[in-house]
Amino acid sequence: MSRKNIDGTFGFSTRAVHGGNEVDGETGAIRRPITMANSYELPYDPSDINWSSSDGSIYTRNGGANQRYLQEKLALLHNAPDCVVLASGVAALAGVFFSFLKSGDHVIISDSTYIAAYRLLHELFPSKFGVEHTLVDSSRTELVKAAVKKNTKLIHIETPSNPTIKVSDIAAIAEIAREAGALLSVDNTFASPYDQRPLELGADLVVESLTKYINGHGDAMGGAVFGERVFIDRIRSDAMVNLGGTISPFNAWLIMRGAVTLPLRMRQHNETALKVARFLEAQPQVRFVAYPGLESHKGHEVAKKQMPAGFGGVLAFGLHTDHDGHNRFVSKLRVLTNAVSLGHDESLVVFLGENDERQYLYPEEFHKGFFRLSLGLEDPEDIIEDIRQALAAAGI
Ligand SMILES: *Cc1c(COP(=O)(O)O)cnc(C)c1O
Repeated sequence: MSRKNIDGTFGFSTRAVHGGNEVDGETGAIRRPITMANSYELPYDPSDINWSSSDGSIYTRNGGANQRYLQEKLALLHNAPDCVVLASGVAALAGVFFSFLKSGDHVIISDSTYIAAYRLLHELFPSKFGVEHTLVDSSRTELVKAAVKKNTKLIHIETPSNPTIKVSDIAAIAEIAREAGALLSVDNTFASPYDQRPLELGADLVVESLTKYINGHGDAMGGAVFGERVFIDRIRSDAMVNLGGTISPFNAWLIMRGAVTLPLRMRQHNETALKVARFLEAQPQVRFVAYPGLESHKGHEVAKKQMPAGFGGVLAFGLHTDHDGHNRFVSKLRVLTNAVSLGHDESLVVFLGENDERQYLYPEEFHKGFFRLSLGLEDPEDIIEDIRQALAAAGI
């Protein structure tokens, strides 16, 4: 809690501005400084210190000043009892899996997730550690329930999901996890805490890639896990101190700065994405559009319930053209940038071709290749005009 006592009773924007900030004790500056130190001064007799502890200030891998300031701010945004900030979103995912799974355990994972979650739970954890898994279409709650086994310890879902924008019912799956005695972790990166707060819906752990909306400026990587103190402490000790996925103080500072404007940016991302989704849906060259804000999206009703402020800034769509036609379209764009990632200030588009390795898990309409489009903060009219001219210039 900051000196101004900014707690969960304040509005989201007030928490985003003031959370984690303090007047600097040494200079009186109204911003906390960047502390680029690896080590902190030890007491006269350090012999009782546990060198693997993340409680005090010892060594930056065990927790540094800027990491702690950022944790204070972000925990407030998710109304979370605690939060750990790590070097990337994948360090956060790996931290959850490494801390809560062991040989002989079973994990249920959405069939549509960020590629590293799939790689970790579908390949690396089974082959290296003997962790069993079941991939399920978690947008169908009954399939999650049917996948539960005696040794199920974790259910990991992502909603809306990367890259097929599936929506899963967090509250219903939290109920299944509770009955199974398993933890539910939700990758919330596509929504950010402005649009969706899974802890309030019964999830045990929430993962965010800070690289995306929370930093929002495309210039720093980070990840975070939110939940009860006992869970987060375990991740701190197992996955931060002992695996070493610590964030750099400079990146923590940049993300703290970016997060101040999260609510403003999310309002714009939500609004632009809905406009562009409606525009795309009306174009004869467009084969399909997947965006939870559209009435045509299978998960629209669930999304309305669990994303009351908006449906995020990412959509997927395909064109009535062949492989080369999709690439030609991208080559004609002047405003949208041909690059991976999402949640940046600039709009980003990536073509996922028909021979993508997870093709077999995608819904039918994705099989001919599709785009993932992350709507940025440009004027929506310029984005729409750019798409219109690129469709014409590519002869689609
Ligand atoms: C990007 C992303 C991640 C990984 O985050 P990094 O910061 O790139 O490691 C995890 N989950 C989702 C949904 C993502 O989009």
